[in-house]
Parts: sequence; structure tokens; C-alpha cells
Amino acid sequence: MSGLKKDIREISFEEISAWFKANGEPAFRARQVWEWLWQKSARSFGAMTNLSKALREKLEENFVIRAVEVDTFQKSKDRTIKNAFRLFDGNIVEGVLIPTETRMTACVSSQVGCSLTCKFCATGKLERLRNLNADEIYDQVALIREQSEREYGIPLSNIVYMGMGEPLLNYANVLKSIERITSPDGLGMSPQRITVSTAGIAKMIKSLAMTK
Ligand code: SF4
Repeated sequence: MSGLKKDIREISFEEISAWFKANGEPAFRARQVWEWLWQKSARSFGAMTNLSKALREKLEENFVIRAVEVDTFQKSKDRTIKNAFRLFDGNIVEGVLIPTETRMTACVSSQVGCSLTCKFCATGKLERLRNLNADEIYDQVALIREQSEREYGIPLSNIVYMGMGEPLLNYANVLKSIERITSPDGLGMSPQRITVSTAGIAKMIKSLAMTK
């Protein structure tokens, strides 16, 4: 982990704008970086090619992007692709691309391990080590989206929060990830095509139902 540098994806657009202003850079730079992070899913400052090299280096000195990486993946006869995603701290979570006749679905994880212990579930036998950050959930979708295009030439259409973990016991990060995935200045995916599956956390189901 890189000392005290903040992960730039964990701060708001306003904070990024303030940083550019404080460093004597024009305001539009913040918009450019925001687009790289959330529309183009850039996982390094080096990838932000419409910024000067000097500015990219300055960002590198001040921030980090703790991007999720594909550790390994397995392609099955039924065309599903099962990914082991490695997080910045070395933890591994699963995410799957599920092709069907009518849709391309990403199944993503929300926790490392799980808070619950459902008898039928392999993840239920794993201790919950931590919740995933919103950007780590976002990265799973972005990586599976690239895989769908690369492997099958078909855009990702649907997302299910049915991987490792109980999404409603990581509520704030799950909602923030959905906001970044569906926002026009994010991946712009349809909220109607996102399913959050739960083992039945009644209190949080109510909160979700009330969420605008
Ligand atoms: S909540 Fe989901 S991931 Fe957790 S043990 Fe139950 S079925 Fe498995």
C-alpha cells in the first residue's frame, strides 16, 4: 500500500477540482481526470494521455489508483468466464461473465468472504475479511465489460450482485458503485438491468426500497 497517498477514486469531483485549482491548473482538468476514471475506467495516471506527462507525474506523486486486476480466469464450454480478481491488498474475489442468448451478465462480489454462513454456499464457509470499496466493485464490472467485448464482441448488458458477500451488509459502497456504474459521467449502464441479490436483510431491504 502506498503510504499516505489517497486513492483518487475515493474522493469527490469537488475535491479533485479543488486540488487542481490549488496546483494552478485550469478547472477542466478535473473533468478530464473524472472521465478517465469513471467513463474510460483508467487504472493508471499514465493512461490519461490528454494530460501532459508532467501533470500525470504530479498526480502520481499525490494520489494512487488501487485498481483491481484479473489474477486468473477460466473459460467454460458454456462460454461463462470465471475470474479471480486480485485486490490491492492481495485478497482475491470472484466475478463471472455469463453469456446467454439475450444478455451478457456480470456477476460481481461485494465482500471478501461473507458476513453470513448460508449452508449451501462455499463463500459462507469463508470468514468476512472486509467489505469491498465502491471502486473495487466498479472495477469488476469494468473488467468484465472489457472481457465481454474482447472475447465475444458483445457489450455487457446486465449486472447481478450475486458473487461473494452479502451486498446489503456493504450498503453504502454498493449504492456508490451503482451510482458510478449507471451515471452518465460513469459507465452509463441501465439501472433497470442491475439486480442486487440478498439473503434477506429486512432492515436494509426497506432502506433500498426507499432509495431514490
Ligand atoms: S449471503 Fe450469499 S455469499 Fe454469503 S453465505 Fe449466503 S449465499 Fe453465500
